[in-house]
Amino acid sequence: MILLDGKLISKKRNLILKEKIEETNLRYKRTPKLAIILVGDNPASLSYVKGKKKACDLVGIKHELFHLNKDVSESEIRNLINELNQDTHVDGILLQLPLPNHLNEDALIDLISQEKDADGFHVINQGYLYQKKKTIYPATPKGIMTLLKSYDIDVKGMHAVVIGRSNIVGFPVARLLMDQGATITVCHSKTKDVAFHTLNADIIVVAAGKVHMLTKTMVKPGAIVVDVGVNRVDGKLVGDADFDDLKEICSHITPVPGGVGPMTIHSLLENTYELYLKHIKNGI
Ligand code: NAP
Repeated sequence: MILLDGKLISKKRNLILKEKIEETNLRYKRTPKLAIILVGDNPASLSYVKGKKKACDLVGIKHELFHLNKDVSESEIRNLINELNQDTHVDGILLQLPLPNHLNEDALIDLISQEKDADGFHVINQGYLYQKKKTIYPATPKGIMTLLKSYDIDVKGMHAVVIGRSNIVGFPVARLLMDQGATITVCHSKTKDVAFHTLNADIIVVAAGKVHMLTKTMVKPGAIVVDVGVNRVDGKLVGDADFDDLKEICSHITPVPGGVGPMTIHSLLENTYELYLKHIKNGI
């Protein structure tokens, strides 16, 4: 079994990105900047934001955190996003999800300028993705594709089963896998028999948020397993795939933590760098 080591790959790629940022910074006397909006004190979100800030520091991306009270009104966030959209020093804007229930997540994501959409969640960027046009891709699907490529895994002709159909993970990763020539099956909570599909899969991406839902009896020998799930159990992070059960049967598998998570953060940095380059090109 080969471990798809997102921690290692992201570390290597972050070093390369750091050099690129240093060079561009020297040449144009301009540092990339990411604005992070965090609402409330959800412990998981606090921890994600901490990791993202640390990663920005590592590669030389400036960051500014706007930490808002959990009761903040939608109009206050709208005003902040509008200001950040206008701020020529800001290249990327990240709205940490999930938001409290009284806020309209989709409307706020779409208010972020498409040119500053570091997470690639904006409806227009998602539209470009579904039309196979070059755009800012959502960070997790992009990170998964980069990880597979780093291990020379060519999905062309493979049967890929994606468990989960969210706008930020399941659906876009299915699209990207299909673009690379895989044949796709997408399972979700209404799928009658997930194992029927996964047993036929050459590669399985599990993104359901269900602790250890993917087990050995659901996977054919030699399949590749990409575990996106992040679940907290007794203070520990565990995936949607039962790693210990699966490691004997898979050809490749991502660990949790240390697999898709670091690749997601790396893709966020890459996205911010891409937006920054575009702004420089446009004389901003
Ligand atoms: P989400 O919006 O809650 O979507 C979960 C998806 O899984 C839904 O499409 C749901 O189906 C499906 N699902 C739920 N239970 C299922 C079951 N028993 N069988 C088959 N499908 C099932 O979650 P998300 O934002 O996509 O995230 C998924 C997981 O990835 C979470 O654990 C999240 O924390 C993690 N995540 C990790 C990273 C990372 O960087 N590692 C990034 C993002 C998310 P329906 O559509 O029918 O409800």
